[in-house]
Amino acid sequence: MGNEDTKLFGISISKVRHAPLKVATVYILAGGGWILFSDRLLLWFVQDPQLITRVQTLKGWFFVLASALLIAWLVHRNIESLRREEQMLRQELKERKILGEALRSQFNEISTIFDSLNAVVYVADLESNELLYLNRYGKEVFREDWHGTSCCDILHTGRTGPCESCPSNQLLMEGVPQSPCIWESHSHLTGKWHQCIDKAVRWTDGRWVRLEIAVDITEMKLLEKMKMELVSVLTHEIRTPLTAMMGYTELLLAQEVDLFQQKAFLSTIQEEAERLNELIDDFLDLQRVEATLIGHEHIPLSVAKLLSDVATLFGCASERHVIRLDCAPDIPTVSGDEGQLQRALKNLLSNALKYSPDGGEISIGARHERGDVVIWVRDEGIGIPPDAIDRVFEKFYRVNTPAHRMIRGTGLGLALVRETMEAHGGMVWVESRPGNGSTFFLSLPACSS
Ligand code: ADP
Repeated sequence: MGNEDTKLFGISISKVRHAPLKVATVYILAGGGWILFSDRLLLWFVQDPQLITRVQTLKGWFFVLASALLIAWLVHRNIESLRREEQMLRQELKERKILGEALRSQFNEISTIFDSLNAVVYVADLESNELLYLNRYGKEVFREDWHGTSCCDILHTGRTGPCESCPSNQLLMEGVPQSPCIWESHSHLTGKWHQCIDKAVRWTDGRWVRLEIAVDITEMKLLEKMKMELVSVLTHEIRTPLTAMMGYTELLLAQEVDLFQQKAFLSTIQEEAERLNELIDDFLDLQRVEATLIGHEHIPLSVAKLLSDVATLFGCASERHVIRLDCAPDIPTVSGDEGQLQRALKNLLSNALKYSPDGGEISIGARHERGDVVIWVRDEGIGIPPDAIDRVFEKFYRVNTPAHRMIRGTGLGLALVRETMEAHGGMVWVESRPGNGSTFFLSLPACSS
């Protein structure tokens, strides 16, 4: 019975219910009318009582026959209309089923596309923010059990309401979807930055929802921040020598100065110009190295030759320093770019000379240690204070002690060494005691013989 009810839906059941009532009403009206008017009509035309009795018998039979025909006709009509309605309902059901299947397959296709994207895609209710769909990437980044949560809850744990910049209220105006909103969001849960594109769309149940595609832009944001920092440090570093040069030039132009002072001013200007030149050279070197490090071809290199070449180059650079080479000839080769590794070693050796102003021994050597070749450059110079040890490899960082300040530099040489080592799968570190010299170490994976 229950099944029949479902098949026929509410409309047919009510029709079935009303059919007997309709038949009874028509029967009462027709029968009542016949009883009321037929006797009066008869008395008008017939006066003979015997004839009246016979005609009334005939009238009775006619009434039975007519009402039987009327009932049969009414029942037949109702059954026919019910049958037609049932057929229409069956057809409608069939079409709805086909439509539902088409919708389901379309939804599956769209979720397959969304699942293949490396971006978070989700659908949330425009008013309650209830999450209705989250793609594979979204589940990986946030969490699997997202059902029954709101987008604010899952994307920004700890937040109870929508984000400050959530564009939900701008997506639909008086029932009309507006053009997509593009905005940036920062997740408190993962620390990631996303660029979000939001649009109001109709959900499968007909309500308006928010479809969001969020692309991870964390790396871009980080690069942007680094670029800004670099530009600000570089500007500061360039401005310092420029200010000095402009100051002395103005003095020379504005005041009568004797020849001795002129020479002093001009030599300061020259020094600052050289500093500026050095800074630009080092910076360009670093940029060039950063650009060429990736994808550069590495070949097996003899460490002994690499060290002896650099030691020879610096051998006669200073009378106050002695350079000692300490490298076993059978040290394994390393894989790398000769020019870049040479430049890194030259930077370490020139620092060793620069930061030991009183002279002393500078030793350069290499040893084989647990699959790595460890190269060192040791000096007996002014050393590095403990709090600066971790910072000397940062771009533009210079140790700020009176002894270090006396020595000119750009703060880019060690940054270049670190970048070179990272590109070679190696490491750089320093051990030092202020006043007792420093030892810089480079470690590179040894080539298997
Ligand atoms: P710079 O051009 O200033 O020498 P680097 O990047 O080569 O730049 O070095 C960064 C800082 O590390 C230097 O300014 C200096 O203070 C310190 N430093 C580098 N090498 C030595 C060393 N051998 N002895 C003492 N301090 C050093």
